[in-house]
Amino acid sequence: MDIGEKVASLAKRRGFIYPGSEIYGGLAGTWDYGPLGTELKRNIKNEFWKSMIQERSDVVGLDAAIIMNPKVWEASGHLESFSDPLVECKRCHHRFRADHGEGKKCPDCGGELTAPKKFNLMVETYLGVIEGEKQKTYLRGEITQGVHVNFKNILSSTRVKIPFGVAQIGKAFRNEITPGGFTFRSREFEQMELQYYVKPDDKESMKQFEYWKKERMDWYVSLGINKKNLRFKEHAKDELAHYAKAAFDIEYNAKGEWKEMEGIHHRGDWDVSRHQKFSGEDMTYFDEETKEKFLPYIIETSGGVDRATLFFLMDAYEEEKVKEGETRAVLRLHPKLAPYKVAVFPLLANKPKLVDVAKRIYDDLKKDMMVAWDERGNIGKRYRTQDEAGTPFCVTVDFDSLGNDDVTVRDRDTMKQDRVKIKELDWYLKEKIGGKSKEGK
Ligand code: ATP
Repeated sequence: MDIGEKVASLAKRRGFIYPGSEIYGGLAGTWDYGPLGTELKRNIKNEFWKSMIQERSDVVGLDAAIIMNPKVWEASGHLESFSDPLVECKRCHHRFRADHGEGKKCPDCGGELTAPKKFNLMVETYLGVIEGEKQKTYLRGEITQGVHVNFKNILSSTRVKIPFGVAQIGKAFRNEITPGGFTFRSREFEQMELQYYVKPDDKESMKQFEYWKKERMDWYVSLGINKKNLRFKEHAKDELAHYAKAAFDIEYNAKGEWKEMEGIHHRGDWDVSRHQKFSGEDMTYFDEETKEKFLPYIIETSGGVDRATLFFLMDAYEEEKVKEGETRAVLRLHPKLAPYKVAVFPLLANKPKLVDVAKRIYDDLKKDMMVAWDERGNIGKRYRTQDEAGTPFCVTVDFDSLGNDDVTVRDRDTMKQDRVKIKELDWYLKEKIGGKSKEGK
């Protein structure tokens, strides 16, 4: 098994990610997040929100509708150009992306292939109850447009001034022709984005572009992805969307293959000018200081939550030799991302005094963080289970705990054990997880 398969197998076995609608044979390109995956994905989104909104004063949040007036997609150009070229096998009728460099023969049956045709990636849906009178619309193909159509609403309802940004997290849908690579290319997925509005000045906007490239790269590194596994890839001039002034992808080295995780795009004034044209609304910004009126330029950072989840998992996965003949699988997730921050164990499940103390600790810690409970089997096995879940700390209540009011805290990465007073435990863990310390530092 390669690392991707190992991670996919661990993801299923431990409840990170399941195939969508599995009992009905699945549905290509859809995935469900299990109890651990839900926590991991939520933690990634919370960290994104914290860095974009909570810790900044120039970015506000938005949660726009998935279904929008179809004119939005005409204006954005998605109905016209959001398509992939496809070839079809004349014998078995399987379809393949023409840009994937397959030969002239069908990779499945060896049959002859048609010339490439364009297929639109937008997912259609119909609103209304009366057959024949239903309105055709689309599930959004990207979350970006929800922000731009609200540009004027945000200006008039908040106190933002250019330069400012709007961040959003939400689902997007694409009729991907070849979903695959586990969750890498799904038909339903989540994006986390920033649309940052700046003056339409080439020099100033490129400065902002460089700033956001660095910010986003640093964000992944700050949450534990190995720097060596990340790189920028510049879009060549002929790969750029016709309106784009510059574009870079942040790529992750998925064990030998560099894959796109996030795009940083300089979109010029494309979105606002198109919505101005198609809606007839004035989308200009009035600068109170200079008395100038202009359509702003847009710097976008657009990341995939599912791809980030997958790459955080792959990067954290390690098989480590513990001693001769014994290896452990461990997810070295950053404590901020780990589904459970700590697991609490009574040394023996049949000793009510130990269980009582452990339960009290468990109930107390739960008020502040996600805590796992386990009383099955031997301690070594329980450690292994938590290693696979990425839990950074395990707390064991033993017989010494009863007299000394302390517990053993075992560290996932070093496997070292510390003795910590029960009343200090909360702060001890919080400091290690990476919040504020007790002294407020
Ligand atoms: P690709 O070239 O891989 O199809 P893209 O360039 O079309 O991606 P964008 O439209 O720039 O992607 O979307 C921004 C981000 O959304 C991507 O970097 C990726 O993380 C995520 N994303 C896009 N399509 C998918 C998908 N089908 N499944 C999961 N995530 C996706």
